[in-house]
Amino acid sequence: MNIKEIDNQYVASTYARFPICIKSGKGSLAYDEDGNEYIDLGTGIAVNTFGYSDDEWVAAVTTQLAKLQHTSNLYYSEPCAMLAELLCKKTNMKKVFFSNSGAEANECAIKTARKYGELNKGAEYTTIITLKDSFHGRTVTTLAATGQDVFHKDFLPLTSGFVYAEPNNVESVESLLKANKCCAIMFEVVQGEGGVRPLSQEFLTGIQSLAEKYDVLLIADEVQVGNGRSGELYGYMNYGITPDIVSTAKGLAGGLPMGATLLGEKVKDVLGVSMHGSTFGGNPVCAAGALNIISRLDDAMLAGVKERSAYIFNELSNAKGVKSISGLGLMIGIETERPASDIIDECRKNGVLVIKAKQKVRLLPALNIDMDLLKKSIQIIKEACAK
Ligand code: PLP
Repeated sequence: MNIKEIDNQYVASTYARFPICIKSGKGSLAYDEDGNEYIDLGTGIAVNTFGYSDDEWVAAVTTQLAKLQHTSNLYYSEPCAMLAELLCKKTNMKKVFFSNSGAEANECAIKTARKYGELNKGAEYTTIITLKDSFHGRTVTTLAATGQDVFHKDFLPLTSGFVYAEPNNVESVESLLKANKCCAIMFEVVQGEGGVRPLSQEFLTGIQSLAEKYDVLLIADEVQVGNGRSGELYGYMNYGITPDIVSTAKGLAGGLPMGATLLGEKVKDVLGVSMHGSTFGGNPVCAAGALNIISRLDDAMLAGVKERSAYIFNELSNAKGVKSISGLGLMIGIETERPASDIIDECRKNGVLVIKAKQKVRLLPALNIDMDLLKKSIQIIKEACAK
């Protein structure tokens, strides 16, 4: 049996895979088992921040790997402490809880918000407002937070205590705040899985005011848009708002599993000893990878993200076969006249890997993708859209 056949027989059937087996990669180039080369604009769904096997990142990770691979949270270790300090200094948040994935980062955010509600408002203040079309993960609680019935229906009953507001509708949030005993409002500044849809400045400023008025926390889910992808270190920084909790994962460690929940002043000590934990959380190798990524996301790198983003928006905005283009930074959705799946298949046949978000073609390139490769790939996408 070949790899595809073995996978189909033995790996759980939860993924509809594209028909290629990726064997290696370097930067924004990926190679399949037959030696075909692709320009990868998907980065493992916003994970490989600087592309495949970036030299500096590999050196940081492998040096740590040879020193200490794991030690548990019963002991202190340098990479975890240094990463928490770096994240706090760059965001003005106060403390960090480390985990392994976006869903877990959100679980921690939800637990923190509920405990905050109990301590500051009363034990019944447990409800969290999230948005329709949001996506917050696949654990039973983060599925409940996700405002899309399609993800709920097979796994009922889910964790209770979530209500769903209309995105970009401040009144909808306020009416839920009045009708429920709430502790938090949770949102993605760009709804990724929901179709790469940015929230408006007016909405985000509006919910910041509501959070103050009703004494509820703001939780920014930065799992997909965070870690430089938006053109700022975290997406919320584009809008001048200050969340109380920021959850992130995906690109944080550049290709290693790591989640982080950043806790602001109001909640920094809400979780005490033994109230939460994760065996692998803050793992030294993942933390060394993340230290390398976060320390390289400086002004010049973020300016490069904005420049690449502007290039893509310019090229595709009025291109033939493109109905609209949405997103922020290097998280971009293209609404096409032809079905998105046809465009994705055609791009792959022509050596470009792109993915889907709802009915859109989604681009999540490496933040430092070589300009010539970007130009070549956008040309191929334009040709596929124009057919
Ligand atoms: N939150 C957002 C905004 C996401 O886009 C995702 C994954 O796509 C998640 C949470 C869940 O992350 P993970 O798959 O690492 O659990």
